[in-house]
Amino acid sequence: MSDGAQTHRPPQVLRGMRDFTPRQMLLRQRVIDILRGVFERYGFDPIDTPLLEYYEVLAGKYGEEGEKLLYRFVDHGGREVGLRYDLTVPLARYVAVHRAELTFPFKRYHIGPVFRAERPQRGRYRQFWQCDVDVVGTRSMLADAEVLSVWIDALSALGVPNAVIHINHRRLLEGLARRAGVPATLALGVYRAIDKLEKIGEEGVREELIRLGVESKAAERVLELIRLRGEPAEVIAAARRALAGDDAAVEALDELAELFQSLEAFGAPPGRYLLDLSLARGLDYYTGPVAEVVVREPALGSLGGAGRYDHLIGMFLGEDIPATGASLGLERLVEVIDEHGLLPTPETVTEVIVVAVEEAQRREVLRLARELRDGGISVETYLGERIDLRRQLHYAHRKAIPLAVIVGPDELAAGVLTLRDLRSGDQERLPRAVAVRTVQERLTAGRP
Ligand code: AMP
Repeated sequence: MSDGAQTHRPPQVLRGMRDFTPRQMLLRQRVIDILRGVFERYGFDPIDTPLLEYYEVLAGKYGEEGEKLLYRFVDHGGREVGLRYDLTVPLARYVAVHRAELTFPFKRYHIGPVFRAERPQRGRYRQFWQCDVDVVGTRSMLADAEVLSVWIDALSALGVPNAVIHINHRRLLEGLARRAGVPATLALGVYRAIDKLEKIGEEGVREELIRLGVESKAAERVLELIRLRGEPAEVIAAARRALAGDDAAVEALDELAELFQSLEAFGAPPGRYLLDLSLARGLDYYTGPVAEVVVREPALGSLGGAGRYDHLIGMFLGEDIPATGASLGLERLVEVIDEHGLLPTPETVTEVIVVAVEEAQRREVLRLARELRDGGISVETYLGERIDLRRQLHYAHRKAIPLAVIVGPDELAAGVLTLRDLRSGDQERLPRAVAVRTVQERLTAGRP
């Protein structure tokens, strides 16, 4: 490569992609740890899959809009490949490959990066992480209820306030379109229009429906039906009246009733979820209940999407295996948590720095650091070239390290240490022999 252009352009990251600072990473890792804990308490096991898949694995799964956002290229061996767009299609491919060794219902969680060539904006990136739980191999609504119960536990473990799960059913939506007199050929466009209700309002949806070719009377009926939203039992009763006689829709309502009963039995607090007949969800592969979790503040769109996809695995196997799952978006979760200060996060992993006053105490500093590390404490010693107390303490302050243990000639001679709390400036002298225990105590006391 010729160097000309390269040397003059300042280095930068690609649009929609980001670097993360240590503090950002520490917060992300804490969120992931909490999610992993919740997932594992329900017995979901981890898996991983490659970032790259054969393009044909990804093609034709996400609908027209999704397809356009797929990263696709030809690799060095001339193969057409794509970056994974979500974790659900790779799971379906995984099940098709590993079917013989799996125990069904198969419950897995998967936390990792996915890629979409979207137009970047707040809460919308081209590389972002999803945190998914899925249950493969059962049609039971218990599975749909369980993944939503996982969501509720995860959101409360993270302390996210006012997150509400909106739930609907794909076949109910189809029933609504039928009942409103929308021809089957327009149905997909109708769902897409309905999905925009939050964004463009009722008037916007009406215009869009009419532009699609839906008659104005039918458009009114669609709007009337999607206004139904709220306490599940009431909405189900209203929908039963509106859709009586449509067998598929009635079956969908029965499934929803079962789902809500199970959710209650899982211990999900009633205020955390509602039935919202306007929820469509963009992705093509959904076949049953669908859900989305949203927060009002900050307005970031949805924190997560969920749904049943009974035919997706069949696209790889030639034989259907039913499945359902729920996906949380890590970046939006972290943004909400950061905005509300829900998980106070340190700037550094270092809990204590051990500093020498003079060169002569260097060996003692390393010995002491060893003991503290053996006591489970994250310890640094200064790696700069010259020993200089001021410089070391300046370094510690800049990194926001909470504690410093100072070893000088007098201390060394007397078998004591100075422990300084760098947050408050308080200082104490303690016998060398109790150093580890005292540092452990001061750290626990200072923790939020
Ligand atoms: P989806 O797979 O489209 O249902 O998205 C599931 C979740 O992933 C969403 O609720 C978001 O939290 C997150 N998500 C989707 N697209 C993006 C994006 N471009 N940037 C960041 N997070 C996203």
